[in-house]
Amino acid sequence: MTARVLVVDDILANIRLLQARLEAEYFEVITAANGNDALALCQRERVDVVLLDVMMPGIDGFEVCRQLKRSPETLHIPVVMVTALDQTSDKIQGLDCGADDFLTKPVDDIALVTRVKSLARLKMLNDEMLMRVMTNRQMGLGDEDAMARILTDRPGRVLVVDDHPRSSSRVMSALAKAHDAYIEADPQTALLHLAEQPFDLLIVALNLEHSDGLRLCSHVRSLDRTRHLPILVMADPGDEARLLRGLDMGVNDYLMRPVDRHELLARVRTQIKRKRFSDHLRNQIRESVELSVTDPLTGLHNRRYMERHLKTLITDAERSGRSLSVLIADIDHFKRINDTYGHDAGDLVLKEFADRFRRYTRGMDFACRLGGEEFLIVMPDTDQVLAWQVGERVRECVAALPFRLGLEQDVWVTASVGLATWEGEGDTSDALFKRADNALYAAKRQGRNQVVAYAA
Ligand code: GH3
Ligand code: MG
Ligand code: MG
Repeated sequence: MTARVLVVDDILANIRLLQARLEAEYFEVITAANGNDALALCQRERVDVVLLDVMMPGIDGFEVCRQLKRSPETLHIPVVMVTALDQTSDKIQGLDCGADDFLTKPVDDIALVTRVKSLARLKMLNDEMLMRVMTNRQMGLGDEDAMARILTDRPGRVLVVDDHPRSSSRVMSALAKAHDAYIEADPQTALLHLAEQPFDLLIVALNLEHSDGLRLCSHVRSLDRTRHLPILVMADPGDEARLLRGLDMGVNDYLMRPVDRHELLARVRTQIKRKRFSDHLRNQIRESVELSVTDPLTGLHNRRYMERHLKTLITDAERSGRSLSVLIADIDHFKRINDTYGHDAGDLVLKEFADRFRRYTRGMDFACRLGGEEFLIVMPDTDQVLAWQVGERVRECVAALPFRLGLEQDVWVTASVGLATWEGEGDTSDALFKRADNALYAAKRQGRNQVVAYAA
């Protein structure tokens, strides 16, 4: 991952030190020697993470942070406060100004890289969401609510795995104010909880008295259900080797014991926010994939998908030598239904029609809505005789029972069906489709509510 990091410090030697370490990890680094320059840079250029020295002449780090978080253009840039001493009052003040995290001088290498990576990832997801919000706005689709929901700090569900009584009660009491936190001492049981319930974050003590916290992290990363769950580990000073292994394994960030509650809350907030962004983006992708292959009204496949799939099924039939038939069903006088009962009632008829349609097809048959009140079933391994039986069943299941639409009277509906069977090599999906359509027209001409098979 590459990201653009702005390092702000009034002492050149400090800048150079952080710059060298970040550049060694392939981050792009830009620098500013005072608060005003930093603010101007953030307004003018893309910045993914700011490392902000607290004590500077002129406007100090707190004020810079406050101004960044106040302006809509820079509010989404994550800010890490770099404090000279491990001072709690600085952390409290930093959080009040909207800082996202802290580093203490002298800056530890692992801490620096981990924090910048974690926040750069958050920024990336944030940018992606913002871009979609813009696009959706241009297309007249609202998505601002989702963004706003993610940015308000709703409580998250956090599972803490720790078997030190003192350390865990400390962590739990800090979390309890802002989140729904649950404690579990045994990693196996924790894994069960994670599989059964939704969590936003897992916090694991690396050194459990009775088991291995790293093993739990590795399990969580490898299971489908929990692969995307953010993990924070709690490490003890001197345990850097295991910490690094955890980070390599996909642990998102860490806390050093004794855990500072402000750091804890800041890191928890970042991880939960990041998870909410990425969950939302992933769901959107899934929805748009579904939208592109299914018809929203009936849930059947749409025409575009059918056109692709029919070609594949024909290739299959060619290879296997099996037969293949298609059936097109069209509701009779559907326009009258709309005209008499209204368009919404018409929609209900279409839904109910699709449900009946689905019930009368086998799992391997492939049903889709071609458009309007026209539906298609592709039936692999089905010759004309069998196809005729299916066609009759479909016609019958529509005509036999009235459609109940919650209206005073039930509505009787009929459909006409046209069939065609694949004629072997050289026959194309287009030709097959056209023959079924011709048969359908014959069924309409001959009086509707009937099945006609194509005959040359
Ligand atoms: P035929 O027996 O010859 O098939 O007559 P028909 O009235 O069913 O056929 P026509 O093609 O004349 O009219 C189809 C109607 O279907 C017209 C259109 O407004 C309506 N329609 C198409 N899509 C939808 C839809 O999604 N919902 C509703 N309610 N009506 C639709
Ligand atoms: Mg300074
Ligand atoms: Mg019709």
